[in-house]
This record gives sequence, structure tokens and C-alpha cells, in this order.
Amino acid sequence: MKSARIMGPNEPLEVIDSDNPKPHDNQVVVKVKAVGVCHSDLHLWEGGYDLGDGQFMKVTDRGVKYPVTPGHEIVGTVEEMGDNVNGYSKGDEVLVYPWIGCGQCPACKVENENLCDAPKSLGVFQDGGYSDYALVPHYKYLAKLDGVNPDSATSIACSGLTAYNAIKKSNMNSPEFLVIVGAGGLGLMGVQIAKAITSAKIICVDLDDAKLETAKEMGADFVVNSKDPETSQKIISICNDKGADSVVDFVNAPPTAKLGISVLRKRGNLVLVGLFGGSMELSLVTIPLKSITIQGAYTGNYNDMVELLDLTRKGTINPIITKRYTLDEANTALEDLKARKILGRAVINP
Ligand code: NAD
Ligand code: ZN
Repeated sequence: MKSARIMGPNEPLEVIDSDNPKPHDNQVVVKVKAVGVCHSDLHLWEGGYDLGDGQFMKVTDRGVKYPVTPGHEIVGTVEEMGDNVNGYSKGDEVLVYPWIGCGQCPACKVENENLCDAPKSLGVFQDGGYSDYALVPHYKYLAKLDGVNPDSATSIACSGLTAYNAIKKSNMNSPEFLVIVGAGGLGLMGVQIAKAITSAKIICVDLDDAKLETAKEMGADFVVNSKDPETSQKIISICNDKGADSVVDFVNAPPTAKLGISVLRKRGNLVLVGLFGGSMELSLVTIPLKSITIQGAYTGNYNDMVELLDLTRKGTINPIITKRYTLDEANTALEDLKARKILGRAVINP
């Protein structure tokens, strides 16, 4: 098989030939049709996350081992199965749940494998889908597409799933006004999902007018370009001068997190999702006085993924795929994402 592998931080990906994996027991080999290109693949390529103040969190300290094949938004057909696999046949079109846990920790025991203490996520801690074949450790991590377009389905495994989980959290206080920061792969899914499952008025924020135009088409009621120094004031005035009930920050860097806090009204809810990173100072007294909730959201569980796949099948959610690359173009795909040239999601079709 052919795989585009990250050899080490900031080194060009190399396309490498190796033997096809052989599935045992519950394992399934999936012939990859499409794999989404996520900003998290960029963080993996860059070797880690910006902690602010010149500090850097290395992915190798979190258990990543190079070389690694990235790609956690994997869609394909069942190619070969271990002896214990049930309910699947060769050729079935499937979406892969990549946020695989240890199966033992408190999170795994309540089926939140995405929050596992010792994660084994595909495309991060073990080889993923920038490849023509991917080995899935257990058939329980598969979901049948049943009619969903394969390229679109890739988004359900990460960008859609993460947005779904984050929007659910932002909806806990029944927001009248919901701010979505970042209209990229995650944020545009967030806008669609918020339109479908909340009754909030949606305000979308980004630096790029083209992305904001798409956000409007996806259902955002208002858009604000945060290059405008009056962004915070503009948002507050849209929210009847009271401020937003909830903010979901799909960027989560100092300027956006500060913006989020500054526009939150009393009882407001800030959900931090992006991994752009950095650090900031908080005015502590504001948090209790305004009774603000600050929480993180990390991907979602298998059941969320299946729910979202259903919503996509019904046409409620329509992931935006605007660019397609071959495996040999994996470096270009990542460079284009880094240069903010991609609207919605790009996929690699090996
Ligand atoms: P993307 O590159 O597709 O989109 C990022 C968007 O943010 C772009 O539209 C860009 O113009 C905008 N942006 C960047 N800086 C901005 C700023 N200062 N103000 C306003 N807008 C700004 O990225 P993506 O794939 O949507 O991922 C977004 C982030 O979420 C990444 O850091 C990614 O690693 C992270 N992520 C987190 C999870 C999770 O579970 N928490 C899951 C997947 C991805
Ligand atoms: Zn992702």
C-alpha cells in the first residue's frame, strides 16, 4: 500500500510503499476512498501546540511517534476482515470513528472514548488514512454510509463531530444569541449544526470575507470580520446591547478568546475548541460576578458520530468539500490549509 507519512516535525511528507495490513480477530482493513484534511493534521506536522509565552507542547510528549500516517477523517470500503467481524461485507461503504480509547478508563467505560486517559486515535497515535488502506482495530468503530456521499462523510468523523459536541454544549443555556468564531472546516459545520439544533440567532466571526459569505449561506444571521477594531462592540449591539449568551471559539487563540469573554453577557457560556493556542490573562472577578461558564470540547463519541451521519443522510447537514487532492499532493494539501486557501474542507482521494 501507499501512505503519505509525516517523517518528523516540519519535514515534507513522504509517500512510502509498504505491505498491506492483514486483519486479525475484530480488525478490518478499509480501502480508503477519501480522507479529510484537518487543521489538527497541521499541528501534528508542526510537532505540537503553542502554549504561549514561548512555550510549546510537543506531540511526542503526548505519545505521538514519528513517522506517522496522519488522517483521522477516513471513509472507504471494507476490503478484508478478521475472523470475528460481524455485520459487514466486502465492499460496504463505511465511515471510521477515529477517537479510539483504551477501553479501561472512566471515560471509556461510559463510551466517551474521545476523552480517554490513554488515547490511541487513528491518524495521531497510530497510523491513519493518508493511505490507500487503513487498519481499523475493531469493527465497532465503523458506521455504514448508507447513501451519504463519501467525500462529505469524511467531515462527520472530526470537524462535524467536534462542532456537534461543541454546539450541544453551547446550547445548554438556551442561547438567544450564539457567536461562532472561525468559519473554517469546523466553524462552517458549527454554523449548519447550530441552525439545525438550536433556536439561537447565529453571529459568525472570521478574518476572511469569503468564508463569512459562505457562513451566511450556511445560515449565519450576522457576520462580523474581526479585522474591524470595533468587533466586540458590533457584536454586543447585535445582541440588543446585552451581549451574547454563548460563544463557541473554533480558533481559540488570545485575540479570539479575549473577544469571546468580552462579548459574553451575564450567565454566558464560552466553549473553547480550537488548538491555535497561546495564553491570556483573565479578569477573575468577572467570572463569578457574571456567573460565566468556560469549558473545552474535544471531538465527540461514537454515538454522536452516528447521530450526525443520520442528520447528513436526511440533508439537514451538508458538509462543504471544495478541494480534492491525490496522495502525492498531501504536502500541497497541508500547505494550502496553512495558507488559509481552503474553504470548508479539503479531502485526499488516494
Ligand atoms: P481551518 O484552518 O479550516 O479554519 C480556521 C478558521 O479560523 C479559518 O477560517 C481562519 O480564517 C479563521 N481564523 C484564524 N485565525 C483567526 C482569528 N484570529 N480570528 C478570526 N478567525 C480566525 O481549521 P479547522 O480544521 O476548522 O480547525 C480549527 C482548529 O480546531 C484547529 O486548531 C484544529 O486543530 C482544532 N480542532 C480541535 C478539535 C477539538 O476536538 N477540540 C478537533 C478538530 C480540530
Ligand atoms: Zn480533525
